[in-house]
Amino acid sequence: MSPGIAIGPSLLFFHDRYDVPVYAVTDLEAEQARLDAAMLKTRQDLEAIYERVVSDLGKRHADIFHAHLLILDDIGLREELTAHLEEQQKNVEHTLDTLARRYVQAMESVDDPRFRERTADLLDVVDRVLRHLLDAERPNLRRLERESIIVAHDLTPSDTASMDTNKAIGLIIEAGSVTSHSAILARALEIPAVIGVADAPAEISAGATVIVDGSSGRIILDPAPETCARYRKAQQRLVKRRAKLLRSTKQKPARTLDDVEVALRANIELPLEIEHSKNVNAQGIGLYRTEYLFIDRNSLPDEEEQYEAYAYVARAMAPHPVVLRTMDIGGDKFVAHLQILKEDNPQLGWRAVRFCLERPDIFKTQLRAMLRASAHGTIEIMFPMISGVEELRKVKAVVAEVSQDLDASKIPYDRNIKIGSMIEVPSAVMLADILAQESDFFSIGTNDLIQYLLAVDRVNEKIAHLYEPAHPAVVRMIHQAAQAARVHNIPCSICGEMAGDALYTELLLGLGITSLSMAPVAIPMIRAEISHIHLGEARTLARGVLKMRTAQEIKETLVAPHLIRARKYDYVMETERETIPGKKND
Ligand code: PEP
Ligand code: MG
Repeated sequence: MSPGIAIGPSLLFFHDRYDVPVYAVTDLEAEQARLDAAMLKTRQDLEAIYERVVSDLGKRHADIFHAHLLILDDIGLREELTAHLEEQQKNVEHTLDTLARRYVQAMESVDDPRFRERTADLLDVVDRVLRHLLDAERPNLRRLERESIIVAHDLTPSDTASMDTNKAIGLIIEAGSVTSHSAILARALEIPAVIGVADAPAEISAGATVIVDGSSGRIILDPAPETCARYRKAQQRLVKRRAKLLRSTKQKPARTLDDVEVALRANIELPLEIEHSKNVNAQGIGLYRTEYLFIDRNSLPDEEEQYEAYAYVARAMAPHPVVLRTMDIGGDKFVAHLQILKEDNPQLGWRAVRFCLERPDIFKTQLRAMLRASAHGTIEIMFPMISGVEELRKVKAVVAEVSQDLDASKIPYDRNIKIGSMIEVPSAVMLADILAQESDFFSIGTNDLIQYLLAVDRVNEKIAHLYEPAHPAVVRMIHQAAQAARVHNIPCSICGEMAGDALYTELLLGLGITSLSMAPVAIPMIRAEISHIHLGEARTLARGVLKMRTAQEIKETLVAPHLIRARKYDYVMETERETIPGKKND
């Protein structure tokens, strides 16, 4: 979920291919003429996009559309189309679709990632031609015509990252859960969202007015005017309450009743979120998910571009620290041009440091950019998915190698830069006492830790109700990692979504967590929550919780936080006529 209220017309966003009709034709010339006209319009579209992207982002990013123009001009495809049309005597959109599917099948059977990429490109071009032939409208999240609530089965990180955030005012997503990346990005962009809503695209008709209440998980379809008026008032109250909360706590660092300061840092995906982070007076960036620099583009960012991005964030947040996480590619975050093959178990697959250690070219470029940026502020480097000490040593050896290169070229960087381990694989918790001796800090990634500990895929909505942060095993793991950090005198923070949920704040502090990093939108609430917590009492609470046997018992003990929570465990979708009770979804 992502808190807040949005009211507006729905926009159904589908990735599915078009429903292509099939019928017999006799006038083949007319069909050929329809194809010519659709091809011409597609060519004009692609040329216009190419020009626009060249002027907005540069030629490098526009290359893909040039490649699409070449596919469109493929004479072989054209000749085959004509031959099929004559042979089958079926409408041209059906002929084109059948031929494209046949091509795709052939390309997918070849075990070469370049062919797979070409498949996606071919389908993209064919979809454009089909759109003109069928005169069909396809929603485009980059440029929305009016303020809309996006209803989709799923959004890829690139859909979300490239969304027109001025007009996408709310999200209703069928797939995923509170920690899927579309949910994380929705919170980062402060867009109210309800995630994991079964059958949302089937239940909601296009253009229907919808109310999304991301704080309570409620969706109201076709609301009566008085319901709309009630929610608009609630929306205004929320905006006012948030502004008040911001004013009252903005300048003060978070402090417990017994006067212990707790650093609250921001998680960011894109440099533009720095503004949000500064607005809520974040004490630094606790997690910069740098892989977002690599997503949604056709070529890798070079060292200079990465350096600029990291140095910008370091300067903007100085004197506070900025924790740069090396790219966590893989899992549910794909980079088309890196040719990562589809895996049966991507969450257990070629991800994060596993990928980086096998692609030292890409890894070293990123580390060079990070180290160079450390000359402009307080930068710390953190590695995702560390599973044991050998892996940590290997990545640190690459840092040492890159540092030596910089020394040889007399390029400045922070020689005392802190290097931390993300604790998000259960083996890292079991070895926390060893890892703590070779790490400058720990940051617990509860999103992944819970997924791996409980064997619950974090993006699979079917089992989302089993994803349980209050599971006693999760609590014990957090405690074990925090205690190992304390013994070895290093800080231990949490940067998973649990950090931004007020239900857990007191427990986390009691377990020994020393700082929290979360979506900027959650910081004022957690800061206010901390001002009601006594650390001594929190430790007593944690001791009690560590003895508990069930998640239910733990959740019942953790009730009564002082503010409305950012999320809820059930959603409800209702029309003004009927109520469809939601399944337990987080
Ligand atoms: C986590 O796993 O908790 C985390 C913060 O990293 P990500 O959500 O990017 O995997
Ligand atoms: Mg993670």
